[in-house]
Parts: sequence; C-alpha cells; structure tokens
Amino acid sequence: MRDAEKRSNLTILTETRVHKVLFEGRKAVGVLTETGVTYRARREIVLTAGALATPKILQLSGIGEAEHLKNLGIDVIMDLPGVGENYQDHLEATVQAEVKDPISLFAQDKGLKAAGHMLQYLLTKTGLLTSNVVESGGFVDTAGTGQPDIQFHVLPTFIGFADRAAEPGHGIAIGPCFLRPKSRGTVKLRSANPRDSALFNANSFSSPADLDTLVRGVEWAIRIIEAPSLARIVKRRVLPTPGLERDPEALRDYIRSISKTVFHPSGTARMGRPDDRMAVVGEDLAVRGVEGLRVADASIMPTLVSGNTNAPVIMIGERAARFMLGKDLVA
Ligand SMILES: Cc1cc2nc3c(=O)[nH]c(=O)nc-3n(C[C@H](O)[C@H](O)[C@H](O)COP(=O)(O)OP(=O)(O)OC[C@H]3O[C@@H](n4cnc5c(N)ncnc54)[C@H](O)[C@@H]3O)c2cc1C
Repeated sequence: MRDAEKRSNLTILTETRVHKVLFEGRKAVGVLTETGVTYRARREIVLTAGALATPKILQLSGIGEAEHLKNLGIDVIMDLPGVGENYQDHLEATVQAEVKDPISLFAQDKGLKAAGHMLQYLLTKTGLLTSNVVESGGFVDTAGTGQPDIQFHVLPTFIGFADRAAEPGHGIAIGPCFLRPKSRGTVKLRSANPRDSALFNANSFSSPADLDTLVRGVEWAIRIIEAPSLARIVKRRVLPTPGLERDPEALRDYIRSISKTVFHPSGTARMGRPDDRMAVVGEDLAVRGVEGLRVADASIMPTLVSGNTNAPVIMIGERAARFMLGKDLVA
C-alpha cells in the first residue's frame, strides 16, 4: 500500500464508510458515503468490504433477495437471493498444557522485556517481534479421506478467549480447526438504515459433521501434547481437563463452549455459473444482472479454502485487476 500511495491515479480515503452503491437503471455509477458525499465511477466499482460488510452494502444498494429488500422498503435493483447466504468460517478449539521451563511467550509483552524486544526489533529487525506468535502448525487427514480436514495452529503460550483470560504462567497451545465446514450462516439486513449493524447468524455447528471433525482434531491435539517426545517440555495438560476426553459428550460440550473463529469469514456473495440461482458474481467477479459492479474479497469464495485466507484473497484481488483490464476472461 505504501508504494501504491505514490501512484498519481490513486486516491485513498480512510475513515470513509460506504453506505451503498448508486445505480442509474441497472448500471452502477457511484457510491454514497456515510457523510452524504457521493463519488462517481467513470468505469466500474469494486466492492472489497469483506464477507460481513460486502453483502450488507449490496443489500442496502438493492441487490439481494427481492422479498427481503421490499419488506425493508428498499428498491430492488436485482433479485439475487444468494446475497448474504452461504457464510462460512473456520472454527478452532484448543488443547493447552503448562510447560516445565520458563520458555514460553508469557510476560514477554510487559515492562522491560517488552522494551527490550522493541529495541532489538528497531535496531536489528530480529527477535520476538518478528514472530507472528503462531510459531508452527500442520495439516492432518483425521478421517482417512486422503485430504487434510484439520489444521493445527501451535502457539508457544497459553491463550485466552473473549470471555475468559488465559491461564497464568508458561504454556503451549495447539488449536485444531476444521478446514471444510459444512455449516452455513447468513448476513442479512436488520433495516434499511446503513448505521444499523447487519443481522449475522454464523450458524456454527449446525452441521453435526463440523463438530465430529473438531472432536477428531482435539483428540489428535491431545495425543500430540501428551506424546513422549514432548514430555521433556510439557508438565501437565490444562485444557481440556485431563480425563474429560473419556466422556464423548463432555468432550463435545467442551468443544462447543470453547470454539472460536479463526477470522476467515467468507462465501456471502459467492461466485457461480449463470444457471446457479444462488450465485452472486460470475467467473469474472462481476455482480450478476447489473453493469459496472464487481466484488473482489472473501465473499466470493463458493466454498472456504482449506487453509488461511489472506493469500487467496490477495489472489482474488489480483484476478479482479486482470479482469478489469480485460485479461484472462473465461470464454
Ligand atoms: C485477527 C485476524 C487475524 C488473521 N490472521 C490471518 C493469518 O494469519 N493468515 C491469513 O491468511 N489470514 C488471516 N486472517 C484473515 C485475513 O485477514 C482475511 O481473510 C482477509 O483480510 C479478508 O480479506 P477481505 O478483503 O475479504 O476483507 P478485509 O481484509 O476485512 O477488508 C475489508 C475492508 O473493507 C473495509 N470496510 C468494511 N466496510 C466498509 C464500508 N462500509 N465502507 C468502506 N470500507 C469498509 C474494512 O475496514 C476493511 O479494511 C486474519 C484475520 C483477522 C481478523
């Protein structure tokens, strides 16, 4: 972005929230922002607000399920029932253990230690601050299908959650997350007021297969954290409580209670072929049934990729750029 900022044909407006896309007939011609200022497009508009905000903007613009929009008093530009459907995300549970020696990241972000790391980074660009904290990971085929269905994120620290603090002291955490969720959620408008947050229903674990996969992932993580090769480092398992895994229902309850997003929301304006009623964009990322509007973010994924999403989303952006230049178009 720093290099892009120098381009003469680029203006970046931060703190500028888009409320909706403006249409003349079925042609997208500009955007309306929160402050009431509008910006007109000479050629086309590309929505990249992410899988939660892109379907909101589309619906506020009159693109979505016609009945739903009409009920909210929004003029329908294009009836696309797939907008805000098909929400998917990766969820992970956690297996955590106390370690014997003071070798984890515990307290490294406090006081003199934190200042030391900052200094080392500023002077040498090395040290702890070059770490993304997820120090290692792996992919496992827990169902024997020939394809991994679980990814592990391994962190040299205890980790907390939105509603509970991390265990105190030195620890290690292995987070198994399922890779190909079957559950599907929704992002729908609550009202026609852009300032109202959207109604978001992740619908996690609505497919029992997702919980089954995560159970196998947690069982694997327990085996890893208690493996003889880690006994030199690991003192005792903390989560889930040792022995809990012998009660299958208790293990499922633990997983349901502790699972959290890996922050990979996607799928809410999905790509599909022309005969696919629920597709929102075509193979060139253009929104179906209108002119001059594309989506280029994680919303367009028909199914969530089996891994981290940042690189695939960058690829989607690069593909969009080529499509806009008239390159690589599918015949
Ligand atoms: C905490 C966290 C950690 C992550 N870690 C990793 C990782 O380690 N590896 C990995 O591969 N992926 C990771 N991800 C996922 C990755 O960042 C996302 O998959 C990716 O950024 C999605 O790109 P996107 O373009 O779809 O949406 P975003 O990156 O969310 O971009 C959407 C942008 O639109 C803006 N926006 C929203 N609404 C409006 C509006 N109305 N008007 C104007 N602008 C608007 C937002 O401010 C945002 O800048 C992580 C995500 C999070 C949140």
